[in-house]
Amino acid sequence: MRLFPLYLVSLLAPIVAAAQQSIGSWPQHSRERPVPPIVAPGRAALPVPPPADAMVLFDGTNLAKWQDDKGGNAHWRLINGRAMEVAPGTGAMITRDSFGDVQLHVEWASPTPAEGKDQDRGNSGVFLMGQFEVQVLDSYRNVTYADGQAASIYGQYPPLVNVSRAPGEWQSYDIVFHRPHFDSSGSVLTPARFTVFHNGVLVQDNVALVGPTGHMSRPPYKAGPDRLPISLQDHAHKVRYRNIWVRDLEPLLRQ
Ligand code: MG
Repeated sequence: MRLFPLYLVSLLAPIVAAAQQSIGSWPQHSRERPVPPIVAPGRAALPVPPPADAMVLFDGTNLAKWQDDKGGNAHWRLINGRAMEVAPGTGAMITRDSFGDVQLHVEWASPTPAEGKDQDRGNSGVFLMGQFEVQVLDSYRNVTYADGQAASIYGQYPPLVNVSRAPGEWQSYDIVFHRPHFDSSGSVLTPARFTVFHNGVLVQDNVALVGPTGHMSRPPYKAGPDRLPISLQDHAHKVRYRNIWVRDLEPLLRQ
């Protein structure tokens, strides 16, 4: 039997390798980087009720599961027992509990009527472990750099598509997050990973982060605790949140 020539195997390898979302070679926040295509989301089916094994972080009625960034009571505004709104200047909202690998459901709406443009319009963010941001932004008819629009992994991965709803309309993020792992010397064994659905549409496909997310920087990983709080960003815009729930995946993945 004749063996498959080696040079043919190496030629075929890139073809058979699974396609993967890439961080690309664009400079961070490049405005030359093509923006993702716009896709109209399907009819909204929100709110999504939490499954029985979820921890409800916010059901609209109180902020008991949250604190401010100094460990004090949360300051964001409760709206009619249904939602909370960023109180500009009061800082991030941080969960009292800590998490590693999770499935996280978040519903949010940007201010209406829309004010400002680019990054200065409906900006907030969902931070896993306080370090890895899924960007919240009003990206409905609002152009900004690709790696900073709604559902980007800020400063690293643009979403695959822009599936934003209009300002004031409720939108959803369904996030699967895997924490980074480190060896005993603090080197990265496996990077943090995100899979994200925006309004039910896949926008981040198991992407591997190069480190914590940052503005005008891509800082390196630093070894730390296995579990840290989830936080919501105060970017001085009155973004609203409701129906936030989380499933701790670690006991399930360990089975
Ligand atoms: Mg942000």
